[in-house]
Amino acid sequence: MTTTRFAPSPTGYIHVGNLRTALMNYMIARKAGGSFILRIDDTDPERSKQEYVDAIQHDLEWLGLTWDRMERQSERLDRYAEAADKLRAIGRFYEAFETPTELDLKRKKQLNMGKPPVYDRAALSLSADEQAALRAERGNGVWRFKLDHERIEWSDGILGDISIDAASVSDPVLIRGDGQVLYTIASVVDDTEMGVTHVVRGSDHVTNTATQIQIIKALGGTCPEFAHHSLLTGPQGEALSKRLGTLALRDLREAGVQPMALLSLLARLGSSDPIELRTDMAELIDGFDLGRFGSAPTKLDSQDLYPLTARYLQTLPHTAVKADLDAAGVPEDKQQDFWAVAKENITTLKDLEGWWALCRDGAEPLIAEEDADFIAEAMALLPEGPYDSETWGKWTAEVKEKTGRKGKGLFMPLRKAVTGMERGPDMSALLALMQVVRARG
Ligand code: GLU
Repeated sequence: MTTTRFAPSPTGYIHVGNLRTALMNYMIARKAGGSFILRIDDTDPERSKQEYVDAIQHDLEWLGLTWDRMERQSERLDRYAEAADKLRAIGRFYEAFETPTELDLKRKKQLNMGKPPVYDRAALSLSADEQAALRAERGNGVWRFKLDHERIEWSDGILGDISIDAASVSDPVLIRGDGQVLYTIASVVDDTEMGVTHVVRGSDHVTNTATQIQIIKALGGTCPEFAHHSLLTGPQGEALSKRLGTLALRDLREAGVQPMALLSLLARLGSSDPIELRTDMAELIDGFDLGRFGSAPTKLDSQDLYPLTARYLQTLPHTAVKADLDAAGVPEDKQQDFWAVAKENITTLKDLEGWWALCRDGAEPLIAEEDADFIAEAMALLPEGPYDSETWGKWTAEVKEKTGRKGKGLFMPLRKAVTGMERGPDMSALLALMQVVRARG
C-alpha cells in the first residue's frame, strides 16, 4: 500500500515550506488510496516541545490534512537501539572521539589544501586501548555509520537520476556522545518498519538520502521512492529561511488567509501547472502530479495568498461564514444581504467587521468644498431610514431632478458623502443595509 509520511521536528511552528512537503506527501497517499502518517521527529528532548506538537496538529487540522496514524520517535527509542546494535554487529558502526574543535580544524586543513571536508575516519584505526583511554578522558564518543565507498544512485521523483560518490560524504553520526539518537537513523528505521513507500522532502536532504539508502540496505530494508522538491525562496529569489517566521501557518491563519487559498497555491507552486483557486481538496489531489514539479528554486510571494483568499470567499454562501458574521455583530436577519455585498469587497474575513461598522454606524462623510451645498440639498431629500434596495434609486432620481446634476457629478459626491469612500459596493445594495447616514445630520 502506498504509504507516506510528514515528519516535522517539533522545535518550532510549521511554515509554508513545511506545508509544501506535507501536502505533497499527503496528496500522494490520498491519490493512491494509501496511508498518510504524521511522524513527530522528537528525538531531541531539549529542543522538542509538546506545545509545538499541538500546534502542528492544529495547523494540519485547520488545512484538512488528516493523517491515518501518528507516531512519535521518542516512543521508539528501543527500535533505534536495536538497529544500532545490528550495525555494530555487521561492522558498519564505529565510535569516534574527536571534539567539535578538532573536527573543525581538520575541515579547515582539508579546505586549505583544496580537498573536500570529509571526515578522515581516523577513529577507525584506534586500538581498543586507545579507545578506552579516550573514553576515560572524554566520555562516550559519537557513533558513525561506515559508508561503503561506492556510488549511491537512485531515480528521484523530481530530480531524475542522481548519483553521489559516497567517498565525498562524511560517515554520518547516528548517535551522539550523550546517547541521543539522531534523525538519520531514526528516520530510516521508521520508514522501513512503517512500510513507507514514498518519501518527498526538501532538496536540502539529498545527501541525507544518499547515506540513508546505504543504512537501509545495511539493515536489510527496502528503500522507498525518494523525491526532493526545490526549496522556496522569497519573491526576489532571496532565501526564505530568514523570513519563515512571518510565514508560519499560524500567522497566515491569524492574518485571515483561507486554507483553500494556501493549499491551492502550494499544491501547484513550482510545477508546470497553473495556479488556480480550487475550492476543495479532492480537485487538488486529482490534478496533482509529482512529475510536473521542477528542480529550480521556487519563488513564493505570500501576497498571492490574499487574492486567492478573496476569490475563495466569493464562492461561499452566507451560511458558511455564519460564525464570522456573528462575530462581526451582523444580526441574523441581515446576514444574507450583508454577505452578498461584503463578499465582493473583502480580502479576508477580518474585513467584515469594518463593513458592518459602516452599515451600523454610518461613515464620516467625505465632502468636497464645492459639493457642500449640493450635499446639503441632497441630504434634505434623503428620508429617514430604514432603507431598502429601492431607496438609492428613488433618492438619486429625486436629487437629479431637483439639482440638475447627473452621471458622475451626481453619484460620486453622494457615494463619498454616504460611505466616506470613493469606491465600494453597489450603492443600492449598500444603502439598503445602512442604518445611519451621518451626512444626513
Ligand atoms: N524532521 C525532518 C525535517 O523536518 C524530516 C525530514 C524527512 O522528511 O525525512 O527535516
